[in-house]
Amino acid sequence: MLDTREVRAFSLLPEPVLTVYLDTNPSKMANRGPAPEYLSWLNAAGKSLVASVPAGEQKLLQEQLGRIEGFLRDRVLPQRGMLLFAGPQTWQPVPLQVEVGNEVHWGRPALAQLLGLLSRHKPYGIAVVTLNGARLFRYHLGEMTELEEKKFVINISQWRKKDMGKFAHVDITKSRGTDHDTFERRIDDQYRHICAETAQRARQLSETHGLAAFFLVGDDRLIDPIAAAFPRDLQSHVVKIEEDLAKVVQPEIVERLEPHIEEWERARQSETIGTLLRSKRGVVLGVAETLAELQNGRVRALVLAADLDPELRQCPNCGRADLTDTPVCLYCGTRRQIARLREILSELAWKHSAEIEIVDAEASARLREAGGMGGWLRLPKQKSARRAARRAG
Ligand SMILES: [Zn+2]
Repeated sequence: MLDTREVRAFSLLPEPVLTVYLDTNPSKMANRGPAPEYLSWLNAAGKSLVASVPAGEQKLLQEQLGRIEGFLRDRVLPQRGMLLFAGPQTWQPVPLQVEVGNEVHWGRPALAQLLGLLSRHKPYGIAVVTLNGARLFRYHLGEMTELEEKKFVINISQWRKKDMGKFAHVDITKSRGTDHDTFERRIDDQYRHICAETAQRARQLSETHGLAAFFLVGDDRLIDPIAAAFPRDLQSHVVKIEEDLAKVVQPEIVERLEPHIEEWERARQSETIGTLLRSKRGVVLGVAETLAELQNGRVRALVLAADLDPELRQCPNCGRADLTDTPVCLYCGTRRQIARLREILSELAWKHSAEIEIVDAEASARLREAGGMGGWLRLPKQKSARRAARRAG
């Protein structure tokens, strides 16, 4: 499963490397048949890329393009997207189950799009809840993996026969009337206990798998008590979806849930930007300002508008980058190179232990108005602790 650690590993691939992103979505007619669109796109884009690189590297690039085209030809790709890295010492196909835009790059590994995908598709937990139990899944980059199944067992064996007769068919969902009798209260008690257990298990899985949120899917009478059993500080990470998926199989579960997850993600991004823009202190806004704070180690999380990718100058020696066109690095005197923000941002963020979030649509537009990039600063306490440590060291 793709995560930031793996992206970090990609960023260290030996250069020059050919990076190819392809939209291979088999639901598009043009991508089917012996001459899929993505292959003809790669062929044409590859040719112009070869013409644009230094003469000394053209043969090498041509070889890598040949390898990738050979790999893709005569192969049916069931995934929505494909990412490939190819170089003299590198061969790394990465199938993706999310929408990808066609891109081809030569030189350093091109990770901007991948970074965007990871930011947009966080790992989530999903619990499909029915009367019989809860199936718990991890959902990431369009793929759903079942983690475990928790059966709900309502134990009625020790109850009096008299009560049993009334309830040949036990239906928890009907046990909510104002007129609860003993039997129904007992079921309620047991179900409450089951809900608490399910919520606790979901929390444990969230921690183990780094899940950004947990979606509870089912009849509201089943999922409400589970949602309520989460502690208050985690309530904002619990999302209820009223859908009956009892008889739905896995690929279709994804289709049914995707719009809900996207909607929630949009709302969350909007909330993130709202909080950032409302904050009076502890935040930074603007590309130049955020980059400076980031490289001073003061940013713990940064946020970037989806369509923002300004040109920077970066020092190949110390890695320092900014928006100015000063030809020489102020820190080490090395001649600087042109680089795109998105190309180098993951490396910078990694170096300074900052998280990156990329926002789309409405959230992106609002952030653009405020400079397109921003971040949350580390707490002053942490900063002074670090400064003290540096002084001591
Ligand atoms: Zn430098």
